Amino acid sequence: MKQTKNLLTVFIFSIYACTQNNVETIGVKLHHHIKQTVEQSGTKKNEEGTADEIIEYPDYLNLDFIMGKFDPSSHERFVRIEDKYTNKTNIYLDKKAYKAFLRMYRDAYKAGFRLVIISATRNFDYQKRIWDLKWSELSDSLSDNEKVREILLYSSMPGSSRHHWGTEMDLNVLENSYYDDGEGKKIYDWLRLNAHKYGFCKPYTAGREKGYNEEKWHWSYKPLSSVYLKYAKENMKDEYISGFKGSEFAREIGITQNYILSVNEDCL
Ligand SMILES: [Zn+2]
Repeated sequence: MKQTKNLLTVFIFSIYACTQNNVETIGVKLHHHIKQTVEQSGTKKNEEGTADEIIEYPDYLNLDFIMGKFDPSSHERFVRIEDKYTNKTNIYLDKKAYKAFLRMYRDAYKAGFRLVIISATRNFDYQKRIWDLKWSELSDSLSDNEKVREILLYSSMPGSSRHHWGTEMDLNVLENSYYDDGEGKKIYDWLRLNAHKYGFCKPYTAGREKGYNEEKWHWSYKPLSSVYLKYAKENMKDEYISGFKGSEFAREIGITQNYILSVNEDCL
């Protein structure tokens, strides 16, 4: 009996330890690392003292994740957004990003307005539907190359959207001019002043040399998206982008360098 009890204790403790371990591994750890001096054929590479940021990426982070090739409704990181915060049904955010949004929502509400999520996670298939629709709406007089560049003013090629990651959300109204005066200006001014306190940054600002146009409605949960962006910088290649009309232009346009990585430096 005593042995059974001991086994039971070990079992319970193991479950506890597993849970703890799980919490640790899904967290994103950043730490600084001093590059080791490398000795090769008797020559010493002088890298002593170079501070280099090494990132331990979470287990779920891979190219399929970066390219939105998963179903957010069954992914451990994702939660469904409650109906009161969105005008859509069945849309998802990363659970950490969602928690941060809820804190921001409450404070924004106290400041006198409602934040409404009108788009959040869009996986590859969802982004492909948007892409195909936009493609079909463009004039046949345009070449395929021109169509691609026209769509890229505001929309991403499937596989290259930050919306794949669960860290991105579009708020309230998808029109920059809405935020120039009245209620829109009030919301935008508040977000510019406060969104960073909850971890949000604005990736598509005005005046950047490359990438998508300004999007005053698009906000990103930086504690995760900055890590995903680093992963994309190290691992993503234009030739991985395929499976839709115009995807053959990804390399010529330099989607990774000129779009994925060309964001406001506040989001890096
Ligand atoms: Zn967006």
